[in-house]
Amino acid sequence: MTTYTIISPTTGKPVQELHLADIFETDVIIEKANRAFQSWRLVSPGDRATLLRRFAAIVEEHNEELAQLEVLNSGHTIGNARWEAGNVANVLNYYSAAPERLFGRQIPVPNGIDITFKEPLGVIGIIVPWNFPMPIAGWGFGPALAAGNTVVLKPAEVTPLTAIRLGELALEAGIPEGVFNVIPGKGSIVGERFVTHPAVRKIVFTGSTEVGKHIMQGCANQVKRLTLELGGKSANVIFDDADLEKAAAGAPGAVFDNAGQDCCARSRILVQRSVFDRFMELFEVAVKAFRVEDPALDTAEMGPLITAAHLARVKEYVPSDAPIAFQGSVPAGDGFWFPPTVLMPKSTEDRAYREEVFGPVVSVMAFEDEADAIRLANDSEFGLSGSIWSRDIGRAVRVSRGIEAGNLSVNSNSSVRYWTPFGGYKQSGLGRELGPDALDAFTETKNVFFDTQI
Ligand code: NAD
Repeated sequence: MTTYTIISPTTGKPVQELHLADIFETDVIIEKANRAFQSWRLVSPGDRATLLRRFAAIVEEHNEELAQLEVLNSGHTIGNARWEAGNVANVLNYYSAAPERLFGRQIPVPNGIDITFKEPLGVIGIIVPWNFPMPIAGWGFGPALAAGNTVVLKPAEVTPLTAIRLGELALEAGIPEGVFNVIPGKGSIVGERFVTHPAVRKIVFTGSTEVGKHIMQGCANQVKRLTLELGGKSANVIFDDADLEKAAAGAPGAVFDNAGQDCCARSRILVQRSVFDRFMELFEVAVKAFRVEDPALDTAEMGPLITAAHLARVKEYVPSDAPIAFQGSVPAGDGFWFPPTVLMPKSTEDRAYREEVFGPVVSVMAFEDEADAIRLANDSEFGLSGSIWSRDIGRAVRVSRGIEAGNLSVNSNSSVRYWTPFGGYKQSGLGRELGPDALDAFTETKNVFFDTQI
């Protein structure tokens, strides 16, 4: 029997021993989900909606418990963790309106009637990374269940606790056995099996670009449907006509939130040369005021990194001769802490500037004009998110149309709303989650022609 010891990122101490599923256990659960699909798809739209609303209500009732569990397991700040649990409830509520609105079309044709149906796919395999265990799971299972699919969910090895609890809460809400299944296990075993098992009809994968490419190759064997949410290296573009105070005050949160372990982290700050020095003065004050402390404190703005191994990886991006402009602080004691770090690389070839660090490290670079800003922002294999700061509305529109990324904000750093689409350009992903169209990713369109001439 394989087990995994969950370690608290805040203290470095063991929290819990957990059984990891092997391939046989995975198959048993996939087959159970496949059997449950035959009845779940037939549950009337109104009843399915009611069950999802009940699931949302129970998640809401357990918000504090789920949030505390995430602080313990993942080192998230308690403020963030409460938002994350709330996001699961919001997503369930939002998609609970879908079963009764999964409209098809009636398309004019000669000699008959033509109707389209949106039909569920079957078992959906959802593979989740460790950085936002609750919301990323919910963005998959909310719309998947609403559309009449059943779900097998694999949380990341290191952060399974909230997913396991959500599985229990689903049963308490009355979601039938076998409809929503959580399988803690290794990516190379449980995750791989989702890809190879023919009863799993779609994979929703969020994680690294490297593993995403591997999964895409595996899905090709069965032409398995696939949504990918992968890495990012997003730009925070600050023009000389921006509200510099506001841009600088928001910039630490835009990259150091969740200790930079955020696919949308604005980890490249591009500042127009004429205001570069002034921005850096304001930014330094904001970085030094950013509160890195025990994530269980209500005042915490940043906690530790997820594991000792990840801390070691992040440290490699800041060698002793790194172009450090300034750094924030970390609390004394155990745990996997790394200070907010601001770099001023000389070249766009600098590793920390080009690669996704997934830690609290940001690189700042100057640009000359609008065209230069767009060129620099797009000089990346990724295209997930980003911000544009300018008081010139025409410029803000032009630049937001020019940047190749799926989620941009103007004079704001917010990336995620459960009712608007989310996803990446280029190697940041494939397909979109959330918003009104996410149901399309969990249904097949069936076209039926009825001949009226006989
Ligand atoms: P990861 O790719 O190492 O793991 C993600 C998940 O895939 C885990 O559950 C893991 O067990 C599983 N996995 C690993 N190998 C597998 C395999 N061969 N087959 C099937 N499953 C496998 O990523 P991570 O380190 O957990 O997460 C960090 C990455 O996730 C970052 O690159 C980040 O940008 C990305 N991410 C993207 C988004 C987005 O929406 N675009 C959101 C969050 C995180």
